[in-house]
Amino acid sequence: MLKHLSEPAMVRSAALLMVLVLCADSQDYCYDKTDCDPYAWGDSFPSCHPLLELHHSPINLDHHMVRNNSLGPLHLEGFDAIQTGHWTLENDGHSVLLQVGSGMAVSGGGLPGVYHVIQLHFHWGGLATNGSEHTVDGRRYPMEMHLVSMKSIHPNVSAALDDPTGLAVLGFFIDVVYADNVYFGLISQKLSSVAYRGQMTKVKPFPLLSLLPKHNMSQYYRYSGSLTTPPCSQAVVWTLYEVPIYISWSQLAQFTSQIFSTEEDAEQVTPLQNNFRHVHPTFSRTVSASRDAGLLRGTAGRPLGSAPVVHLLQIIVLGSFTFKL
Ligand SMILES: [Zn+2]
Repeated sequence: MLKHLSEPAMVRSAALLMVLVLCADSQDYCYDKTDCDPYAWGDSFPSCHPLLELHHSPINLDHHMVRNNSLGPLHLEGFDAIQTGHWTLENDGHSVLLQVGSGMAVSGGGLPGVYHVIQLHFHWGGLATNGSEHTVDGRRYPMEMHLVSMKSIHPNVSAALDDPTGLAVLGFFIDVVYADNVYFGLISQKLSSVAYRGQMTKVKPFPLLSLLPKHNMSQYYRYSGSLTTPPCSQAVVWTLYEVPIYISWSQLAQFTSQIFSTEEDAEQVTPLQNNFRHVHPTFSRTVSASRDAGLLRGTAGRPLGSAPVVHLLQIIVLGSFTFKL
């Protein structure tokens, strides 16, 4: 195509391309540099600005919540089946995403409609720091998984972002124990294929239910908030489960030490760490507790009651693990 263009047209095309590339660059965001980290997102993405919009995510979960006895367990359709085709795991430079096709839906539990599952992704910390986005009584879990669904009446995500309840995100805290999580391993063992930004690999579908906490799925918290990444649209019905998913220290380390925010051929490769947004005030929002939720008492007793010790041990062990490397 290019050879048919006159020289001025080529110059114009090149200039246009540069503008597009520059725009793409200026619209990008990061977690580790002051000019593009979460505190600077509002400069490029107005709806991320903490004063222009008030209902941001994540938040801290504390005792200021209201029991809602109408919030029963959610209906997770297709979660116990093996979906056809293949799933795609991708490093987009900000997280690792698993695109899970179109066979699963979420409804009930007070959600205003049926939501089709699109993808899940993760947030994590550093070699010795935790990285969940939501906090519980000010404490962070090692990781957080977000299962993103779109309300079925919308033709695409951009339409859903204009609806205050356009997306439903199920958030799962991830905590660390000694034993590997076999189903989590189906994702984490593929991470070496998506170490660098832009890399993708196929994942064989498995019943998604096997990845979720086996019990206590009726214990959760609910509030209205935003995407935790730009454009920070206030379009999310959040459901945060009280009981975490458990993985092993080595599975956690695969995220914190083997994923990069840069492309493979970048001059300087940068590990992707601490990819979480800071917590925001709830302001006038109500945070509801489901009928069966422990109102944080359950989590404050176990596992969170022992969390400082567990996390301290984890830091020590991960630290010595790092030194051995
Ligand atoms: Zn997320």
